[in-house]
Amino acid sequence: MAKPKVYVTRMICDNGIKMLKDQGYDVKINPLDRVLTRKELLKNVKGIDALLCLLTDKIDGEIMDAAGKNLKIVANFAVGFDNLDLEAAKKRGIMATNTPQGSTEAVAEHAMGLLLASARRIVEADKFTRANKYKGWKPFLFIGEDVHDKTLGIIGLGRIGFAVAARALCFGLKIVYHDVVRNPEFEAKFGGKFMETSDLLKQSDFVTLHVPLMPSTRHLIGKKELALMKKSAYLINTSRGPVIDEKALVAALKKKQIAGAAIDVYEFEPKLSPGLAKLSNIILTPHIASATIETRRKMSEIAAQNIIETLSGKTPVHSLHK
Ligand code: NAD
Repeated sequence: MAKPKVYVTRMICDNGIKMLKDQGYDVKINPLDRVLTRKELLKNVKGIDALLCLLTDKIDGEIMDAAGKNLKIVANFAVGFDNLDLEAAKKRGIMATNTPQGSTEAVAEHAMGLLLASARRIVEADKFTRANKYKGWKPFLFIGEDVHDKTLGIIGLGRIGFAVAARALCFGLKIVYHDVVRNPEFEAKFGGKFMETSDLLKQSDFVTLHVPLMPSTRHLIGKKELALMKKSAYLINTSRGPVIDEKALVAALKKKQIAGAAIDVYEFEPKLSPGLAKLSNIILTPHIASATIETRRKMSEIAAQNIIETLSGKTPVHSLHK
């Protein structure tokens, strides 16, 4: 019997690759350190049984058809799966999976890092010190704000939102949250208060976004929502770029309608909206919230496991088909 063919769209940690090879699969990996063009992707998927792809690959019906009738699974190397056409996969009887849990803690740590860096002006202060501008202690030099006793508004209390809440409590923050599903267990255990998004925006000193990108969350934060936030508040986004209307964010930060923002993801990724990089009241990181070696290894293992389970005729734990 022919060996199942697996195509990996970009080099990932070798632990997952080893798991696939140990199964006797014929594993091919894109050797280039860049996203494949559409044309390259269409060519490379021909005749494969499994596709291990990244959030930078748009996988739709055309790609699935180019792969052909043997394609059994599209295993996304990410928690978010807005790059996959799930309906197209379902229609063709193709499994689709993601890598939840793998990156929960790392993303929560990054979100807290952005929050702390915003409140304490760490990035600005670093640039200032390197530029040899530090000429002695001053009472108001880089005066920041306390984090403890402030209110953190979490929008999207799923795996990552929950992990952020657990960390934020240790920093003495009060938690309020909004989710489409209320979580009484969280409220009882963490004292987190549920509220509608508009109330959360009005009351929070820090707002952190942890929703998936879907039609209902695109531009969840726009001009109207930014206008509801406190002038002293900070907005943190480690979810997906289009959850914020970036043009509206630039405008709000320009007129100091809010104190600042710290974002890891961009509406037109990897492009930045005009004016964004010129602002001094925003911290920008290049979609690295889950970029720790431990997390990348876990993601590699989970993606490989999803493929192994599917190719052995099982339904993988991380199936995205409802
Ligand atoms: P999750 O599915 O566990 O949680 C998402 C939560 O959002 C759920 O509780 C859901 O009910 C809630 N939600 C959905 N629509 C909502 C709405 N309109 N308003 C309020 N809440 C809503 O997902 P997760 O593991 O916590 O991950 C969240 C997102 O983080 C992912 O979808 C992904 O896009 C993003 N992410 C980013 C990075 C990064 O590197 N920056 C890494 C991992 C995940």
